[in-house]
Amino acid sequence: MRILLVEDDPLLGDGIKTALTRDAYTVDWFTKGHHAIEAVHNESFSAMILDLGLPDMDGMVVLEGLRKASSSLPILILTARDAVEERIRGLDAGADDYVLKPFNLQELLARLRVITRRAEGRASQILTVGALSIDEASHNVSWQGHDVALGRREYALLLELARHPDKVLSRPRLESLLYGWGEEVASNAVEVHVHHLRKKLGKSLIMTVRGIGYRLDRHAT
Ligand code: CA
Repeated sequence: MRILLVEDDPLLGDGIKTALTRDAYTVDWFTKGHHAIEAVHNESFSAMILDLGLPDMDGMVVLEGLRKASSSLPILILTARDAVEERIRGLDAGADDYVLKPFNLQELLARLRVITRRAEGRASQILTVGALSIDEASHNVSWQGHDVALGRREYALLLELARHPDKVLSRPRLESLLYGWGEEVASNAVEVHVHHLRKKLGKSLIMTVRGIGYRLDRHAT
């Protein structure tokens, strides 16, 4: 999942980015509101983590602007403003949730999982597609009842396919979900990860749709 992080505090931004990256997310981090708005128009993200006190504009303006432009991107607000009116204003303006600073990183990750799940209309943290099951909180992956150890990008790729089980995801789309802005990426990176996943999960689960991309086969055994 690719996350748009908007936070101008360098230490906090770096801490969040590190924690998210370790948790197999791809992160694009901006410190200014107008860069974030631009990024939403140009790229596709699974969620946004938005600080309210930004150097160039109030995070509320970013939020209201995106909702006015009909963006349904799940948005989690980070705020040091603990006045209840502020929180109500944020939620009414279309935020999906908020976290008060200072916060625990594990709680932030849990809330992020909740808003992305909700956006998919999913209640459980366990994703199941046929004989495949993925626990989003523990990252435990099991195939035909056996645990499988995956690398970070392999996990991220499999998770994207499992989040859209009946959809063909194109190679450029998968690439953009796995690699952030300015990240070095080999032209065959997605194929290489698919190759490794097939070695671990068998050949039939990830189907190649010629000329388009990949999708999971629910009936694979
Ligand atoms: Ca700030």
